[in-house]
Amino acid sequence: MNPVDVEDRRGIQFCSRQKLVVERGQGTLVWDVEGARYLDFTSGWGVTCLGHGHPVVVDALCRQSAKVMQNPNSGFTYSVARAELLALLAPLLPGSLQRTFFANSGAEANDAAIKLARKVSARPRIVSTIDSFHGRTFNTLSVSGGRNNVSRYSPCYPYTDFVPFGDLPQLERALNDEIAALIVEPVQGEGGVRIPPRGFLSKASRLCKERGVLLIVDEIQTGFCRTGKLFALQHATETVQTDFLTLGKGIASGFPFAGFAVTEEVADKIEKGDHGGTYCGNPLGCAVSTAVINYLLEHDVAAQVERKGQLLLAGMRQLWRKYSHYIVDARGVGLLTAFELANDALVAELTDSCQQLGLLITPTRNAIVRLIPDLLVSEAHIEQALLMLDHAFASLEPRVAAAS
Ligand code: PLP
Repeated sequence: MNPVDVEDRRGIQFCSRQKLVVERGQGTLVWDVEGARYLDFTSGWGVTCLGHGHPVVVDALCRQSAKVMQNPNSGFTYSVARAELLALLAPLLPGSLQRTFFANSGAEANDAAIKLARKVSARPRIVSTIDSFHGRTFNTLSVSGGRNNVSRYSPCYPYTDFVPFGDLPQLERALNDEIAALIVEPVQGEGGVRIPPRGFLSKASRLCKERGVLLIVDEIQTGFCRTGKLFALQHATETVQTDFLTLGKGIASGFPFAGFAVTEEVADKIEKGDHGGTYCGNPLGCAVSTAVINYLLEHDVAAQVERKGQLLLAGMRQLWRKYSHYIVDARGVGLLTAFELANDALVAELTDSCQQLGLLITPTRNAIVRLIPDLLVSEAHIEQALLMLDHAFASLEPRVAAAS
């Protein structure tokens, strides 16, 4: 389908539309097929939390694949790797979450949570937030509040109401007795690293309880130390009583894996056959995830993220002061950070400029670029990235002047 029009020095053909053809990675660095080196401040959409090629991940993958990759009659048989991961997760889950089911992607985990919330509550509607992102399956894009995504497949699943993120009065009006669940991110990732007013999640959780509405907290982007806590809802002013917590991305640092945790009350209403899948809870994903989570805990990565996030954000704010005609805001929690730029056109210009200098960053909608490096990124690499960003912003000046 794509034109194959680039050939590397060994004669392997690639599609130039992808621009950068990555061959390998190590830690925060990746190399393209020509040997050029880049600082990866995308971590593959916030996935490779331990960086590329981490020995803990590689070792877990090799060891488990030599034992068993897929259980016979998966779902009907039990796996040691799965039991180990469940035992590790159980005491780490916040609030009254007790039971975890595994999935293959974030969208699949959210899709299952939405489906099961409808069944468990016997109510039809879902409330979500404007500018949210919960995945690209039909169910999850129907509850994703980014307009572009939804309009392409219109009409989407109709039983969804959207409220502005962080707006408690509007949320209060929306939570009526037709609502099965509220689905919400603690910090909107794809929406542009939007941080709600303090106390929002705790108050939303209280409102849900009062109205008999289930709460689905989507920590697919924010979980596993990305924001400086194991789960972002642990930043909340008071305990957030969530009924579902959906997990993905960093859960296995690059191996495709995800999951959702539920309370005992919810689990009790889920019957055999309600949910499942050929690869759900596969031993490979479980083994890698166990290794990753153990590493995060043993090395207190959450504390490292908080410190490094402050360093990164302080540097970004300096750039904001220097290039205030291009930058509208610099914000973040832990190592989930973003620049909001003055207009959409600047996003592509800045991203291209950074790539030419050897820095990969993540553009997103609403004139935003995100900096989401792996959680083990060194301070030296943060300084280098900031320097490259400084050069990239400076290089916009002559181009923008020439265009005007
Ligand atoms: N939920 C959130 C908050 C996300 O950021 C994403 C992906 O970016 C998803 C769900 C979908 O996850 P996946 O791409 O693994 O399906």
